[in-house]
Amino acid sequence: MSLRNWFASKRKASSASLSPESVNQRLSDDDLERLWIQCYNCQERFPKKAIQENLMVCSSCNYHFRIGARERIEQLTDHFQEMDAELKPIDPLHFYDSEPYPKKVDKAEKKTGLNEAVITGIATTNETRFALAVMDFAYLGGSMGSVVGEKITRLIETALEQRLALVVVSSSGGARMQEGTFSLMQMVKTGAALAQFHEAGLLYISLLTEPTFGGVTASYGTLGDLIIAEEGARVGFAGRRVIEQTIRQKLPPDFQTANYLMKYGQVDMVIHRHKLRDDLVRLIQLHNKSLERAGAFSKRQPMVQV
Ligand SMILES: [Zn+2]
Repeated sequence: MSLRNWFASKRKASSASLSPESVNQRLSDDDLERLWIQCYNCQERFPKKAIQENLMVCSSCNYHFRIGARERIEQLTDHFQEMDAELKPIDPLHFYDSEPYPKKVDKAEKKTGLNEAVITGIATTNETRFALAVMDFAYLGGSMGSVVGEKITRLIETALEQRLALVVVSSSGGARMQEGTFSLMQMVKTGAALAQFHEAGLLYISLLTEPTFGGVTASYGTLGDLIIAEEGARVGFAGRRVIEQTIRQKLPPDFQTANYLMKYGQVDMVIHRHKLRDDLVRLIQLHNKSLERAGAFSKRQPMVQV
């Protein structure tokens, strides 16, 4: 073997040892899942760490992976003080489908490490404080049960008391059927709290992420002063298949995507995950400044009248 060939074969061997296929032969399925991630859109495989460093966005095709509530909070905030973390769902209807509802709740808790499908609290980013709720789709499809509604309502009330801007990051399949009417009531409850919040002239930004459907879209998801969709998110009330079967028509391929909603005026902005944190804070700061100016103006008012 010539020296040149020896180097070539060495290079080949070292690059082969880094490919997912060769790693595949040495690692168990669990290890593989832990270390590598495959993009659902372009099917390319990447080291998980590289995608995590890219905020869980595919560096090849820009696909935004779904992320959990804790990871979202880490991406969006410098500091986060959680509220009502101890609130957990109960089973008011003794609901049973494939298994009892409490059993489903236990499984969701073990899978996600969360007590419910939403985390709420007070966030600080770039020295700007705001109230933040983030839903987690991995907990029973991000469904809106009594506790989700209660935690969001308490957060709205806290934001109102402290005169803070409010951001709700939604990701949900809709109302939680295992809680029946108790779940549907949350739409009215959160809506009523938001109406008071709106009256006070405070800013509510609704951020819709992949996927947001049903009762959440029909309540606080679309009651924002600003409604923002994260790039790649699908947002709707009923799902595409149900609508197609009902109206017996084929819907366009981009139906219910963030850009489609933007085109038809259902959202105000579509923002890439890389820009979300800065853009959200900039919008809140802009509104805070206008509140300060309005406050200064109303204080001067009596002097003008005199
Ligand atoms: Zn991709």
